[in-house]
Amino acid sequence: MFEAKPILQDGNKLLRKKSKKVKKPYSQEDRDFAKYLHDYLAFTQKPENIEKYNLRAGVGPAAPQLGVLKRICAIGIENFNDENDKEKVTSVTSFAFINPKIISYAQRKAYIIAGEGCLSITEEHKGYVPRAAFVTVQGYDALTEQELTVKLRGYEAIVIQHELDHLEGILFYDHIDKEDPFKKIPGALEI
Ligand SMILES: [Zn+2]
Repeated sequence: MFEAKPILQDGNKLLRKKSKKVKKPYSQEDRDFAKYLHDYLAFTQKPENIEKYNLRAGVGPAAPQLGVLKRICAIGIENFNDENDKEKVTSVTSFAFINPKIISYAQRKAYIIAGEGCLSITEEHKGYVPRAAFVTVQGYDALTEQELTVKLRGYEAIVIQHELDHLEGILFYDHIDKEDPFKKIPGALEI
């Protein structure tokens, strides 16, 4: 039975702390924790759990959201060919990263028109969150047990940047322009 530990909520000081790099060789405990975060994600995406535990469907918890200040985070994104038929998942982008880092960014920006969400934030923060439209990420993936270098674009790139921000103590609304939350971002990819 999966044990869903509580997700820390905005206002908790741990969410604003910088996470520490995980020491190599990665211990079984750290690798298991990365996989736990990935399982957590699957758990938060199940409609029955969303209702039962009052969750917001997540795209990936980062370790600090569970009070662990280590550079570990998971992402899991289902891809659909047909946006109107979400039963037909064509592929899943899944990682359970230890020590992920972005090694290159595109100059071009991307943002989610409807704004970003976060398992740690219930309060609504309206506005665009500008991110890089393409990123290359390097890190150890506990799911496949290997060091990976992956290129992510669009929504996936946004998600990993959101997660890596958690490891720096940054929350998505920190990026919203306070004066003009819906300021046009020239040339940006809209999602
Ligand atoms: Zn978040």
